[in-house]
Formats: sequence, structure tokens, C-alpha cells
Amino acid sequence: MLSRLLAVMMLLCIGLPNYTSAGEEEIVVYSARNEHLIQPIFEAYTKKTGVKVKYITGDAGALLERLKAEGTNTPADMFITVDAGNLWQAARAGVLQPVSSELLESNVPANLQDPENMWFGLSVRARTIVYNTTSNAAGKLTTYEDLANENWKKRLILRTSKKVYNQSLVASLIAEHGPEKAEQIVTGWVANLAADPFSNDTKALEAVAAGIGDVTVVNTYYFGRLMKEKPELPLAIFWPNQSTNGVHMNVSGAGVTSHAKHKEAAIKLLEWLSGEEAQGQFAGLNMEYPVNKTVSPDPVVAEWGTFTGNPMNVAKYGELQGEAIMLMDRAGYK
Ligand code: FE
Repeated sequence: MLSRLLAVMMLLCIGLPNYTSAGEEEIVVYSARNEHLIQPIFEAYTKKTGVKVKYITGDAGALLERLKAEGTNTPADMFITVDAGNLWQAARAGVLQPVSSELLESNVPANLQDPENMWFGLSVRARTIVYNTTSNAAGKLTTYEDLANENWKKRLILRTSKKVYNQSLVASLIAEHGPEKAEQIVTGWVANLAADPFSNDTKALEAVAAGIGDVTVVNTYYFGRLMKEKPELPLAIFWPNQSTNGVHMNVSGAGVTSHAKHKEAAIKLLEWLSGEEAQGQFAGLNMEYPVNKTVSPDPVVAEWGTFTGNPMNVAKYGELQGEAIMLMDRAGYK
């Protein structure tokens, strides 16, 4: 009797492959989002559900290569990365699988997720214009496109075209205007540069603060970080394209890996990350915007004002990334 009961119990245990030991579930995440931005959130999830979240963090490209190399043997259940261009590349590389979830569909706006459900945006970043408040830029700024106008000659500061953020921005110009007009715009930007492109958004902001140029295009959280450190800098945000197509929007996001060993658990975590409980912190820790419309941005972020974002599906940035890179090369955008 006892031995039969034991046999049944053993069978039950074998039937529960998602558990590392009795009742202890675990999810493995590869994250291109920095540790300090995810660790507190995973901790909260473990506290609430008992599910352990193991993670490694690294460069987006390196993690994708690792996922590809590991193939079916990967321990990763979820991949978190930044920029729709990178998410799109991951889907195209075959390391993600589609997730069908009503909760994700209602929490994540349609334009901020993959049309094939391979990945979902979890925070929104606005790539906007920042200007030097001691210059006369304030009254003159209108659109990204207008930064190609010769009025901005020797006044524009840009980050390098090698960064996916700018590849996505240019991809959005191609989607909006077609390749010819997009190339004219980018060529105009290059002609207006006040200095060679900078290696990151913070350096671009510092160059504008130092008066090397008057305007730049950056993700708002870099503005937030720098101003937190040096509130005296003469910098302010401008929301462009408000009477046309809106501010360029991008996401950080995640998908469930193709060879996830804890697929259902990973989907649950993904759903939770898009929900009310996690969204404020997920976005707030990096001074980004929540993807979930029912959640308000962090008060510091809210102070930057409200704006209309471009409703374009961010997956377009991936589709047009190759074309954007070639276009920037032709335009001499280094
Ligand atoms: Fe960034």
C-alpha cells in the first residue's frame, strides 16, 4: 500500500518538470537591461509568487549570440533587451517563440509589441530633442525633419549612427517619408553637425550644455540622469512633431525563448511585468514611461510634460534597420 502510494507520488513528481525541487519554481532570464533596473523587480516577483528568477545581464548583441550558440540547450526562458530593433533581430534569429496572451494584448498597446507576438514592449522611451536654454533654439524648434534645415548649420549634435537608437530613428523616417526624402533629411543633419557624432547620449547632452552645439536628439532618460546629477546644466526637453506624426517612440521589451524549459512560468512573469503592479517600477527605475496606459509615469518624468507619441508600430524599426544603416552610410553620418 505504502509502496504503491510512493510510486504514485514519484510519477506525480516526474510529471512536474518545471520544478527544481518540491514546489520551487525557477525562471532564467538573459537581460540586456542593467542589473539595477531588473533585480528589485524580480525580487518583488519572487516575494509575491515564490518563483525564483535567475538572471545574467550583458550586452544585447552578445546575449543574442549566446542564445543562438546555445540553441536547444539554452537555460534561458526569457530574453529582455532594449530597442525594438534588437527585439526584432532576436525574433528574426529564431531565439524567441510567439506568446498568445489576452493579458499581454490588453496591457501592451498594439504598436509597442511584435505583430507576430514574438516580443512585447515593457517600457517606453521617447527619443526627443534637447536644447541649450541659453541659445535661441527654444522658439525655433519644430520637427526632427527641420533639423536638416540650414538654419541649424553648425548647431546640431548627434550620437553615432552605429547605435541602434539612431538606426531606429532613421528607420522611422524611411517608414514615414520613403527612402529618398529620408536620405535628404539625414544628409541635412550631417551638413548641420557642430562636431563629429558622439559615442553616447550623455556625451551629446554634455556637448550641448557646453555650447558646442545648440540641439541634440536623445532618449529622455539620459536627460533625466544627467539633470539629476547636474541640475544646473542649461538643458531642456522639446517635444517635436506635435502637429505632425508625434515624438519618436521606442521600447525595452522581452520575449519567451524558443527553447524555454519553463515556458508557462516565463509567460506568467512576462504578464506580470506588463501589469499594474510592476509597470511603475519597471519604467520608473530607468526614468522611462510605462507601456501600460493605466500606470502613471514617475513624478520626475511627468514633470517633462505631456506629448503625442508617434503611433507607428515599433517593429518597423527592425524591418527597416538594414536600409537605415545603408542610408546613413551614404549620407556620411558616422
Ligand atoms: Fe540606453
